[in-house]
Amino acid sequence: MTMSAGPQTIRGACGHDCPDTCHWMVDVREGVAERLYGDPSHPFTRGTLCAKVNHYLERVYHPDRVLHPMKRVGAKGEGRFVRVAWDEALADIASRWLEVAEQSGPEAILPYSSAGVQGLIQQASIDMRLFGSMGCSDLDRNICGAVASAGLKATIGCGTGINPEDTVHSRYIVLWGTNTIVTNLHYWPIVREAQSRGARIVVVDPIRTRTAEAADWHLQIKPASDAALALAMMHVMIRDGLVDHDYVSRHAIGYDSLAERARQYAPRDVSRTVGLTPEEIEQVSMGCRTAGIGCLECKKVMIKHVIDDLAPFREKRAHYEKKPAEVERILAEGIDVAQQAAAATMTEVRGTLGL
Ligand code: SF4
Repeated sequence: MTMSAGPQTIRGACGHDCPDTCHWMVDVREGVAERLYGDPSHPFTRGTLCAKVNHYLERVYHPDRVLHPMKRVGAKGEGRFVRVAWDEALADIASRWLEVAEQSGPEAILPYSSAGVQGLIQQASIDMRLFGSMGCSDLDRNICGAVASAGLKATIGCGTGINPEDTVHSRYIVLWGTNTIVTNLHYWPIVREAQSRGARIVVVDPIRTRTAEAADWHLQIKPASDAALALAMMHVMIRDGLVDHDYVSRHAIGYDSLAERARQYAPRDVSRTVGLTPEEIEQVSMGCRTAGIGCLECKKVMIKHVIDDLAPFREKRAHYEKKPAEVERILAEGIDVAQQAAAATMTEVRGTLGL
């Protein structure tokens, strides 16, 4: 009887476009992956992968997985395909591209993909070079990442967020438009740890998500009203003298204009728009400012609003920094645009819901 060799364990990192960036391990025996799991010694992964990646091996070895080029032989949507050789598939595609390029120029070809998997090889290597060398149209291939990144840079100067593990020190945690349990699950135990140390967890979300269910307080605002809520919270902090003016004078631009605008957003005036009582708005504003150490986790929902407000800065930030008056004017205009957009969205939402 021959003893089979034990599996070899390969270490890797999840390449998905996900904030958790898990460290996984896979046991491989004779070229076959037998088990995929999170690294138990990794402080953030803690031995757990998400539902999406836990089933990776099932997909890799599933009999229905497409392993060969398939050519459509029927009408679109009919679902009729035949298997063809790689050479035939490549020749077919190449001849079609050449035809398009000859008839309309190579820019008539627009490559599109996003960042589902962010490995250096999968996401941004050979295809970019191929399409670049052909002279195809160029596209910033993402839907929301560039907006989020520009928003972060415009507000805090770089794309770096807080160290998630530092959240355990927070006393007031606001999860703003993020369903953390489902989409950022490795962050959730840290939030829970902070909660067990006495932190209060507040979720701002129009939807009663699992995270909202598990929070200490769910602020179920109306859709598209969170910019108004943010301005009302600023209103309270400015009105009650809770602003760190030393920090603002050293690091912020456009504060006076923002403060002027925020003064128009008293909690009682935005209460109906936001769907919260004035007392609730007062309470969350005070909670954020008086807890001492807080954490605002806002993901891309709020960042989108921020970048809507500050969009003009992206192009000429250096220019504007030298011209405070211009900054003030643009800030005011930016906020107007954001308000109009929010109002239009709310009208649309109300129309759709028949409210
Ligand atoms: S949570 Fe899932 S998708 Fe995100 S890094 Fe971990 S395994 Fe990958």
